[in-house]
Amino acid sequence: MSDYEVVIGLEVHAELSTKTKIFCSCPTSFGSEPNTQVCPVCMGMPGTLPVLNEKVVEYAVKAGLATNCGISKDSKNDRKNYFYPDTPRAYQITQDDKPLCENGYIEIDTNEGKKKVRILRIHIEDDAGKLNHDELRGGSLVDLNRAGVPLIEIVSEPDLRSAKEVEEYLRKLKSILEYIEVSDCKMEEGSLRADVNVSVRKIGTKEFGTRTEMKNMNSFRSIVRAIEYESNRQIEVLENGGKIYQETLRWDEVSGKTFSMRNKEDAQDYRYFPEPDLVAIKLSDEYIENIKNNLPELPESRKQRYLEECKLSEKDANIISSSKYLADLFEQASKICNNYKAVNNWIISDISRILNEKEMEPKDIPFTSKELANLVILIDKGTISSSIGKKVLDELFENPRNPEEIIKEKGWIQISDEKAIKEIVLNILEANPQSIADFKAGKDRALGFLVGQAMKQTKGKANPKMLNEMFLEELKNR
Ligand code: ADP
Ligand code: ZN
Ligand code: MG
Repeated sequence: MSDYEVVIGLEVHAELSTKTKIFCSCPTSFGSEPNTQVCPVCMGMPGTLPVLNEKVVEYAVKAGLATNCGISKDSKNDRKNYFYPDTPRAYQITQDDKPLCENGYIEIDTNEGKKKVRILRIHIEDDAGKLNHDELRGGSLVDLNRAGVPLIEIVSEPDLRSAKEVEEYLRKLKSILEYIEVSDCKMEEGSLRADVNVSVRKIGTKEFGTRTEMKNMNSFRSIVRAIEYESNRQIEVLENGGKIYQETLRWDEVSGKTFSMRNKEDAQDYRYFPEPDLVAIKLSDEYIENIKNNLPELPESRKQRYLEECKLSEKDANIISSSKYLADLFEQASKICNNYKAVNNWIISDISRILNEKEMEPKDIPFTSKELANLVILIDKGTISSSIGKKVLDELFENPRNPEEIIKEKGWIQISDEKAIKEIVLNILEANPQSIADFKAGKDRALGFLVGQAMKQTKGKANPKMLNEMFLEELKNR
């Protein structure tokens, strides 16, 4: 098995976050009642005329520049003809031989170091509607809200060699698209989905093997599983003297297997021709230059800054820079509280953990960078302990407001009054004579136990540093 190499190329579709559709002024928002965001143009009525949304071109050019593509000053739209019930026009308006962006690359981290994954092209096109199966009456219902939502399709060269590399590539691409704010990249809503092309070949072979394609995959987990399953299936077929046929497969999440859907139509079947209802897209140097100059700082550059200026670890810098929302939170909060180490720790540990538990994306974080900064300040000033800080963070996720307000309301202000601390210490000592004896006998752990008891009794409100000192002093005198 191991003398085979897996070859993967991706066609990634990203829905653009323009306010309106690509050829009409219907809104693009997700989740509305079926067929409430439609008009004669996006319903494909005969005689209607599309008008290209300029923002779509701008967003696609942005994506091209951010992925090191060349931008074509001379581009056009084409019709790709096929019948499908969710595409009433019976053609898609896409780009065939003159895409907006070509020949770029994205750099990913692999075990063997950095690797450039080449991007063949990025083009613009319209999304199709959706078929909803009617469980009650049987049959399918057509919802055209999504018809005409603008897409960019990002086609990679077959440069990827493992499921791991594919995951890295997709994460990087997603993070770049989020940074430049051209797509919300919500995979669970289908805003980012990938057609995954897989083939295998004997190591050392020059020619690629025949590929199969799994369409519209929208979770990292299924993509990784599907590639692993499909490449092993292909190897097994070849090892048994069989042949791989170029076809479209369906990945079934439940059985963890791929199934044949249809044989691959030849590209010519689509009968591409230039879209006669739209003019060619001509871009000036100034137009492209202007978009280039206004690109925000990209993840790789931020990561470098975090490594060099903040001395974050490689792992922390990777996590924080991978999401624009985390990176902004990190930078803004650090600036306010002047303690980037603490902010880094909150983001990497507790905030990441809570996001995981709640299955939330960084951009769904409900509190502001100022609120996080104030939490750090309260701990730094000794107003609250860091264990109370964790409770404040939980509150910030539940019902975000100023941390000062939270601790006042909840009575969480740290006990730092010397008299009060002394009283607590004496109480705990009285109740734990064995610990005193242990300490005297040289068991240092007894101190930690006593501090722990005091924290427990005060529900984490006592100042731990003062407790420590006071216990030591009292123990010395006994
Ligand atoms: P389409 O699927 O629309 O016919 P292409 O022929 O341009 O489009 O190929 C689509 C994708 O398939 C590209 O991302 C490319 O990298 C990938 N690909 C092409 N050949 C192979 C192969 N032998 N193995 C794996 N991926 C491949
Ligand atoms: Zn419309
Ligand atoms: Mg394809």
